[in-house]
Amino acid sequence: MTSTPHPASPRPADLPERAAVVDLEAIRHNVRLVRTVADPARVMAVVKADAYGHGAVPVARAALEAGASWLGVAHIGEALTLRAAGIEAPTLAWLHTRESNFSAAVGAGVDLGCSGWELGWIVQAAREQERPARVHLKIDTGLGRNGITPDRWEAVLDEATEYQDAGLLRVVGVFSHLAVADEPDRPETDAQLDVFRDAVALAEDAGCDLEVRHIANSPAIFSRPDTHFDLVRAGIAIYGLSPFADQSSADLGLRPAMTLRTLVSQCKRVPAGQGVSYGLTYRTPGKSALGLIPLGYADGVPRTSEGGPVRIAGTTYRVAGRVAMDQTVVDLGPDVDPEALAGAEAVLFGPGDDGGPTADDWARAAGTINYEIVTRISPRVPRVHVDSAEAPAPEDLLKEAAVADVAPAAGGAA
Ligand SMILES: *Cc1c(COP(=O)(O)O)cnc(C)c1O
Repeated sequence: MTSTPHPASPRPADLPERAAVVDLEAIRHNVRLVRTVADPARVMAVVKADAYGHGAVPVARAALEAGASWLGVAHIGEALTLRAAGIEAPTLAWLHTRESNFSAAVGAGVDLGCSGWELGWIVQAAREQERPARVHLKIDTGLGRNGITPDRWEAVLDEATEYQDAGLLRVVGVFSHLAVADEPDRPETDAQLDVFRDAVALAEDAGCDLEVRHIANSPAIFSRPDTHFDLVRAGIAIYGLSPFADQSSADLGLRPAMTLRTLVSQCKRVPAGQGVSYGLTYRTPGKSALGLIPLGYADGVPRTSEGGPVRIAGTTYRVAGRVAMDQTVVDLGPDVDPEALAGAEAVLFGPGDDGGPTADDWARAAGTINYEIVTRISPRVPRVHVDSAEAPAPEDLLKEAAVADVAPAAGGAA
């Protein structure tokens, strides 16, 4: 037997054989949209968790280019990664432990979210760095995660303003996080806003000269203008994904930035009843063909994705059987020519504008949310950043080629 190189869907130049392709122009588009919706509030681009898997440094740069004023991350280490890349925009980190490097944060001019217990550590860092720390006090208005509970708020304000008077820190922000903003009709958001407004008023009365008050996340940006205050913290929206169960990216005008693609590794005909993958939980209902997709749970494809979609040569096929560590099988049905699909590009999710599968589809298949689908793509999958604002669209390339055929440019470059 000979193996013949295959003509199907030649691999786009310089794309790795498996890649999470991130379009930075989509990120910019989404940031511009969020700016418009949030105006006059400013926008913090939340780039924690390596920008939800999209690559923190390139995404942060694109977001700033599109007019984001702030960057937000969970960990101090994530903020320091941005600083090490030369990104100097105002940056807030809000999730700490007693082993966090507060000193490095203060030294790098990173703003610190503070849930109360950190004040002593932050002040010690300010002393070490001989520089006042910039602090955003976090009020727990009802989410029950980090933050200062309302009954402790005034005590923490007392402590913080004492340090402020001593020149060790400045309280520049008050913030909180919403629990149910993706369900805009629930009453708890109003209750959270009441607590938030009271906390802000108390901080101002106590002598905090606040630069920013912020509570809105992506769902609140779209559904609750009354949550915008001075600054909104946009995460999932800047990646082009919808925070709502009943609205798509397109419904909101967002463009999904990440495409997860690879090539079909192998294609073969199988008889009826062919078992597929560990546990043989799937058997072909009739004579069929199977396509092997060289991505698995080690790449971040959820193991429990029943019928997850994979687009090959314009048709969407379904995952058959269990997703394994490195590979996933799709049932191509009886009517395809396996030879024609071996080596073709396989897209697990992307912008969805061509009817192709989306991160939302995978979220449904895996019983999770789109946030997790993109964030869990593992480091084994190279991130490739492209810029559709720079690269001509393939149609344009064809047009250029057509024009060149008719009228070669002077000098006759071929
Ligand atoms: C992750 C996070 C956000 C962003 O939430 P999205 O729903 O992705 O917009 C905002 N604020 C805080 C505190 C967060 O942890």
